[in-house]
Amino acid sequence: MEWKNMGSGTISVRAGEVLDKNVGGVTTPIHTATAYMKSEGLEGGYRYPRYGNIPTQTAPGDKIAALEGAEAGLAAASGMAVVSASILAFAGAGDHVVFQDYLYGGTHHFITAELSRLGVDFTLVGSVEAADLEAAVTDKTTVVYVESPTNPDLRVVDLEATADMAKRRGLVSIIDNTFATPINQKPLELGFDVSLHSATKYLNGHSDLNCGAVAAGEEHIRRIRERTVNFGTTLNVYDCFLLERGMKTLALRVARHNENAMALARFLADHPLTAKVNYPGLPDDPGHEIAKRQMSGFGGMLSFELDCSPDRAERILAGLELFQEAVSLGGVESLTCFPAKTSHAKMTREERLRIGVGDTLIRMSAGVEDADDLIRDLERGFETP
Ligand code: PLP
Repeated sequence: MEWKNMGSGTISVRAGEVLDKNVGGVTTPIHTATAYMKSEGLEGGYRYPRYGNIPTQTAPGDKIAALEGAEAGLAAASGMAVVSASILAFAGAGDHVVFQDYLYGGTHHFITAELSRLGVDFTLVGSVEAADLEAAVTDKTTVVYVESPTNPDLRVVDLEATADMAKRRGLVSIIDNTFATPINQKPLELGFDVSLHSATKYLNGHSDLNCGAVAAGEEHIRRIRERTVNFGTTLNVYDCFLLERGMKTLALRVARHNENAMALARFLADHPLTAKVNYPGLPDDPGHEIAKRQMSGFGGMLSFELDCSPDRAERILAGLELFQEAVSLGGVESLTCFPAKTSHAKMTREERLRIGVGDTLIRMSAGVEDADDLIRDLERGFETP
């Protein structure tokens, strides 16, 4: 089927499915075999689950490819599996990678803990501007890697400008598109080479599965797949089934996440206890104009600072009833957390403060409940002394 001219609702539901015509079921079956009689040659055919080529495994990979408007895609065992495989597919010993400093804490830890050990040099740039990223490019640079909007302070990267710079300098451009989702943002259409996800978040959407997904051109995916096969981080068929199932409602869920986050951001921006709200959908957010250009929705994630002591901020979060205080994001239930104690806990306090992760910064993942109920929960919670 040609997905290019179809809407994201249709693509979410149907792209990638591999139906068993003999049986007539309307969903992709879980093929549990680890040995296939028809396998021939090293490439192609159904061969072995670690190669990721069993139909249950190709289904979510092909769905993410269609959603991102890419030639190819694959699912892997976690977001970090696709982060690491994508970077290492294009950077080896002696190469250099340019990263923006504003990254998910686990990605930051992968960079600082693993890349030097593998002989890959890198620069973490304290800016999301393409010109500042370009200033860090050396004759050894092979990759530029960004997140947008960033975790947890929702900075917006100008994706077209960054992709143009990468093309001009001959670099592979990689984006972590987890926060935006392919419903709100299609980086490949803006010139990026690789778009990856912690599929644990919005793609699966139900806070019950750890997995990753990546979309890119055929040749780029071939190189990324080689890393997942060699490192053994392919996603198993049971989890591929759950991921494909979750992704069927992606467009539906994301529309509601967008609406709820906007309502919550407006409420927070008007509340006297809030010192600062980060949400690219707010007209006075520094990323708003660029976000309007490159996103079709502003996403379900926001963060904010409360104008009170860290102790009171903790009591407020603990007192909320609908918002559960927990790590992770992108599920149907609304969550809050202190990134300083969760996603960015492995960074030193100085490193955290440098990228805007203060002690009282609260990250909020807007779920798909009713916005009025969520706002009432916050109104009540903010009265906690
Ligand atoms: N990228 C972002 C933006 C994330 O928030 C996360 C996890 O929180 C990851 C990557 C890593 O994903 P996973 O936990 O599925 O390995």
